[in-house]
Amino acid sequence: MNLASARALDAADPLARYRDLFALPEGVIYLDGNSLGALPRAVPAALQDTATRQWGERLIRSWNEGWIDAPARLGAKIAPLIGAAADDVIVGDSTSSNLFKLLVAALRVDPARRTIVSETGNFPTDLHIAEGAAGCVEGARLVAVPRDGLAQTIGPDTAVVLLTHVHYKTAEQFDMAAWTHAAHEAGALILWDLSHSTGAVPIDLDAANADLAVGCTYKYLNGGPGAPAFLFVAKRWQERFANPQSGWMGHAEPFAFTDAYAPAAGMRRWLVGTPPIFGLAALEASLDIWRDVDQRAVATKSAQLFDIIAAAGDGLGLDCVSPRDPAKRGSHISFRHPHAYAITQALIDRGVIGDFRDPDILRLGLTPLYLSYEDVFHAGDILADVMTSEAWRDPRFAERQTVT
Ligand SMILES: *Cc1c(COP(=O)(O)O)cnc(C)c1O
Repeated sequence: MNLASARALDAADPLARYRDLFALPEGVIYLDGNSLGALPRAVPAALQDTATRQWGERLIRSWNEGWIDAPARLGAKIAPLIGAAADDVIVGDSTSSNLFKLLVAALRVDPARRTIVSETGNFPTDLHIAEGAAGCVEGARLVAVPRDGLAQTIGPDTAVVLLTHVHYKTAEQFDMAAWTHAAHEAGALILWDLSHSTGAVPIDLDAANADLAVGCTYKYLNGGPGAPAFLFVAKRWQERFANPQSGWMGHAEPFAFTDAYAPAAGMRRWLVGTPPIFGLAALEASLDIWRDVDQRAVATKSAQLFDIIAAAGDGLGLDCVSPRDPAKRGSHISFRHPHAYAITQALIDRGVIGDFRDPDILRLGLTPLYLSYEDVFHAGDILADVMTSEAWRDPRFAERQTVT
């Protein structure tokens, strides 16, 4: 790869037109869209309209003019990105909260099955929440084992297998159909965390026959910091599962104001309290970008961007821990290095924003909608400069901040 070939790829890129839909600062190559997606240009106007017209002028009438239906409407917009029917997805709360609701519900389906099986080194909130959810159901427990021990751990006591589709550190991807099948063979349910894969790789929950899923919207979906998350329940389970956080927004008739709880039909029962309208407004403006995006073009470009950075890393002797086979990974690339933190900071100082994951991972997100081949080619050059000059040894790059 050289500059001319990167530019030739940009000239022929079917996704190039999406870049203008995002507001990116000058002089920055943003390789952290897997942690906080970039700002879509449509978002500030959507927030402004929500504040001044919908809230300021329409006041409480806005609840009936679109607000109350936003969680289901946005769920329907996410559905095609994850291979789900429009009415099997709803948006609300955080990924952590949604995990809690679904895990407790799954543990309560069959009292003979008491175990949540997950992977050690899974994203921390998944394990923390699983521990907390198990604590809420009598006799339940979390068993977390390394990936190569999962198959033999899933058994007759397993209520639900909790897996993160794309690993946040290494970018390794589970084969969704194969692991869903393995869980079902053992009589267990499966819950997929799609936080690092939605908008990054093609996903087909229905083809895999998945039971449950959650996912984040502020990463590859660009919904903004702390944007509300999504939740999927396969139709066959929707009437069987109960939300342990039985709030009034999940009630069959919230405005009947009855004392007793009765769950809404379908996905609305997973709502808890009043939906966060500003967060939903920003997310909806972001999701509208995805309406006509060709997922295969995203996957193809992601693989090519990966190869550009991987080649730069190979030339520097960096230890790439992400799978080389594009079908086996998500849309970021990670290198292991004992000084990964300082290297990350030195890159940021030169305008290449990636991130660091404790203890030794430099992580670079590859977001085909708003990164050009030329951007990524330059990022590879800057990485080479930081490594060969040992610029990262400057003591100011060793100082740890709260968010890494
Ligand atoms: C980002 C991420 C989350 C985020 O959870 P929040 O509740 O939004 O903080 C959860 N799980 C995985 C796998 C993630 O990558």
